[in-house]
Amino acid sequence: MSEPQEFLTCACDHCGQSLEFPAEMSDHQSACPTCGYQVLLKPGDRQRAQPPTPELTRPATPSLPGIEKSGVADALSVIAVLELIAAPIAGLIVGQDNTFFGWMIVLSGLMSGLILLGFARVIEHLFESAQRLRRIEILLQKASDEKVLHPSRL
Ligand SMILES: [Zn+2]
Repeated sequence: MSEPQEFLTCACDHCGQSLEFPAEMSDHQSACPTCGYQVLLKPGDRQRAQPPTPELTRPATPSLPGIEKSGVADALSVIAVLELIAAPIAGLIVGQDNTFFGWMIVLSGLMSGLILLGFARVIEHLFESAQRLRRIEILLQKASDEKVLHPSRL
């Protein structure tokens, strides 16, 4: 009756592929099945080849949602810019018949364009602040979860 063969693992120096080999092949060279590089099979380098024990992984760095841009703010900005461009054009056209109304259109167009731009900025900031607050909440939540899991750390 022969003993069940003991298997060891090491990593390919070249491509990092994890290699499993019988213990008696220790210190021999063997071609990596993945890249063909000659690898020195180093024993004791790694633990025995066993079904990997599930590691108690710390919760990874909290994955925070990215901060998105507000689509509404973008749309408002576009409208505002269009208005700023269109106002003088419309003013010129109307102004050929009626100078006063022409100027009124230019001014009111510019005014509302600027107001819209202002709104867009405000909305953008509110939108971003809300997301930043959400991220802070997530961080706080993670921190308190950690406290519960690892009270000794405190
Ligand atoms: Zn390799």
